Amino acid sequence: MSQAGQIFVLSGPPGAGKSSIAARVRADMPDLAYSVSLTTRPPRPGERDGVDYYFVTRQEFQRRIAAGEMAEHEEIFGNLYGTSQKVVGQVLEQGQDLFLDTDVNGAEQLQKRFPEGVFIFLLPPSRKVLEERLRGRATEEESQVRQRLERVRYELTKAKNYTHLVVNDNLEKAVAEVEAIITASRRRTQRHLKLLEEFQAS
Ligand code: ADP
Ligand code: 5GP
Repeated sequence: MSQAGQIFVLSGPPGAGKSSIAARVRADMPDLAYSVSLTTRPPRPGERDGVDYYFVTRQEFQRRIAAGEMAEHEEIFGNLYGTSQKVVGQVLEQGQDLFLDTDVNGAEQLQKRFPEGVFIFLLPPSRKVLEERLRGRATEEESQVRQRLERVRYELTKAKNYTHLVVNDNLEKAVAEVEAIITASRRRTQRHLKLLEEFQAS
């Protein structure tokens, strides 16, 4: 049987740049599977169902939780967000590596199940810059921006539990660092013992 894949989780406060970085990683590393989350929040302009999220009703999300179909889930800003168990199971069983974007509570749930996983916390350069980026994104109303800024403090209390920390001051640099962490983790010797055996036998 081939070795199970490993998981790469990207978290960070809202506005840290997770979606921007995830989009780049997705494009640059096509052999990495990407888990599209489910959410009950309405799509933002330009967001596509099945690409950015699977947009589902609360009733449908709750049915999935009750049926044990969620690998992790959380209620954030009054909406449910979560990862499909089927996707996680299938991808890892096939020996493929999986990239996910979850909040800190979702990451904590995954860390218990996958202690060998790679957990990357994305830190904005400062609170001020974070606020500017959130407002600059202009996807939420003022009350929702405030809600997101209030959550930053909580998310930061969990940052030290992550295996890696990347500062998103410059997007190109942050993307390069996240990709370097992924590449280095995928080259762990223990994941490639077969290559050593094959060389010995050649
Ligand atoms: P998240 O998914 O973590 O909520 P986004 O990827 O939506 O964050 O980024 C929030 C906003 O900040 C977006 O408008 C994005 O274009 C912008 N942004 C992300 N990274 C940078 C960066 N390094 N420099 C300037 N703007 C950035
Ligand atoms: P947004 O509404 O800005 O897209 O996301 C809000 C929050 O939901 C972010 O902190 C993001 O990391 C989190 N999130 C997105 N997908 C998931 C998921 O599948 N599981 C969990 N637990 N959080 C998620």
